Amino acid sequence: MNRYWSDVVRGLTPYVPGEQPKLPNLVKLNTNESPYGPSRRVLDALRAEIGDTLRLYPDPGSDRLRAAIAKRYGVTPDHVFVGNGSDEVLAHVFLGLLKHDRPVLFPDITYSFYPVYCSLYDIPFEQVPLNAAFEIAVDDYLRPNGGIIFPNPNAPTGCFMALPDVERLLRANTASVVVIDEAYVDFGGESVVPLVSRYPQLLVTHTLSKSRALAGLRVGYAIGRPDLIEALNRVKDSFNSYPLDRLAQAGATAALEDDDYFKAMCGRVIATKRKLVQDLHDLGFEVLPSAANFVFARLPGRDGGDIAAKLRERSIIVRHFRKPVRIAEFMRITVGTDEQCAGLVEALRGIVQGG
Ligand SMILES: *Cc1c(COP(=O)(O)O)cnc(C)c1O
Repeated sequence: MNRYWSDVVRGLTPYVPGEQPKLPNLVKLNTNESPYGPSRRVLDALRAEIGDTLRLYPDPGSDRLRAAIAKRYGVTPDHVFVGNGSDEVLAHVFLGLLKHDRPVLFPDITYSFYPVYCSLYDIPFEQVPLNAAFEIAVDDYLRPNGGIIFPNPNAPTGCFMALPDVERLLRANTASVVVIDEAYVDFGGESVVPLVSRYPQLLVTHTLSKSRALAGLRVGYAIGRPDLIEALNRVKDSFNSYPLDRLAQAGATAALEDDDYFKAMCGRVIATKRKLVQDLHDLGFEVLPSAANFVFARLPGRDGGDIAAKLRERSIIVRHFRKPVRIAEFMRITVGTDEQCAGLVEALRGIVQGG
């Protein structure tokens, strides 16, 4: 601790992202990135953007990008907010829409950035336990609150809440904002964006980091009624007028416009996941039903951290969460290419048989 630090900084316990190792030749199945590169149209758009215009500030409103997002989802651009990764969008959501006297509700096993935003912005929160099947149970959220947020599919479980259940929550919870973080929805879920027109308290967030293979570009967005979007714009314009640089805006716009490539890559990941789940079952693993680009799996009776360490010795990295103890047996494994997943399965076979 440094005597120059503010009290705010002293009290922070920052989020720890998955490791980005500098070592080459590692099979990286730990942070849910796409195993495939972005669309060629994205790379062309990025190259075209490199030039003298970089001396000028980017469009503060990211108008072209917001128009492309709006077009894809059948809404008007005033329903769309964009940020430097959905993490930044979520930070603004916590400050602008979820900070109230009553606590924000989110699952006990979920994206571990949520409690970090709460501590940064001094927002009261309550963590609601997942049910015995590791699912989010709507009934547990039907009580007074300052807002509700969860990923759908959830992370790190991969479990998906069907739309009728989300809608039941929305019908019952009209007094506070409900945020559905759809970071993984493109890999087998169904988006609730079509419900935005019927529920003024619904905000949906997305990222280009996973299904658009652009984790390195840092672009995320939110879709909701214009008055919710206005709250996010007020925070953004009190924080950073230019969260997306020129390259990010050009590349993200091109990504949104290349639907064929997007669908093909999501299809590939889904097909590889199906095979991976089968192979893991054959090795004796329990795998939670996943609608995401990762699987959450355990070998009953074995510590997930121990298996992850043994995988690492074989140059494969996956993610393990020590807490809560309820998930200590599990590993979160990103779906890679067919070859990467075959290598993972072979390594696991050796670990399972070798003890
Ligand atoms: C990856 C992830 C995000 C953040 O994505 P970025 O756009 O890369 O910041 C948000 N929510 C969940 C649940 C995620 O897994």
